[in-house]
Amino acid sequence: MIKDNIELVKKNIKAACERSGRDVADAKLIAVSKTKPIEMLKEAYEAGCRDFGENKVQEILDKYEDMPADTRFHMIGHLQRNKVKYIVDKVYLIHSVDSLRLAEEISKEALKKNVKVNILVEVNVAKEESKFGTTVEETISLVEKIAALPGIFVKGLMTIAPYVENSEENRQYFVSLRQLSVDIKNKNIDNVSMEILSMGMTGDYVVAVEEGATYVRVGTGIFGERDYGI
Ligand SMILES: *Cc1c(COP(=O)(O)O)cnc(C)c1O
Repeated sequence: MIKDNIELVKKNIKAACERSGRDVADAKLIAVSKTKPIEMLKEAYEAGCRDFGENKVQEILDKYEDMPADTRFHMIGHLQRNKVKYIVDKVYLIHSVDSLRLAEEISKEALKKNVKVNILVEVNVAKEESKFGTTVEETISLVEKIAALPGIFVKGLMTIAPYVENSEENRQYFVSLRQLSVDIKNKNIDNVSMEILSMGMTGDYVVAVEEGATYVRVGTGIFGERDYGI
């Protein structure tokens, strides 16, 4: 079942790449496995998935132990500064950096553990009050400040688009994020590459790929609805 879902999502990504003249190798899938048991991650791994998205530090630590060594964990949720030390040497990419203070903490822990940490700056393109992320206007100056910190590389930008019935409504936000990344790239800042655009979830990943997403983060479309209990 998980395997079929992954195949369907990959097929849709491929079709979106073909429509927009993109190389399918440039649009990668992150299976968002938050709240899901390790058996389901293993099933996705068997089906070829190596990239998994999680939003809780403790969950990453637990699952990290139980997954094969070539599994790449992506931190996609809000990260508290006091928890940075637990994951800097375990995650492949932190998608959710939205303040200089958080970046400074990541830099500090990266130096302590002697690792280089790749991060994305999270941008609240749609200006939703409920969401984390820097504003479009503040992004360039934040990127410049983070770039000056040791042990940390800014690889690109991430956004979480609003929940909408019609994914076309989110196209504007994906276009804006890509434009912003091009503007930043053109500044040629040291330690900043802008090669990654993390955008698109189950409801809108096809539109995101058409607009240049290099990672889409798909949870429900692979693992089914999440049960948060109450
Ligand atoms: C949960 C989550 C996803 C996946 O959402 P789905 O709609 O289930 O695909 C993607 N990105 C982030 C940041 C998330 O927290």
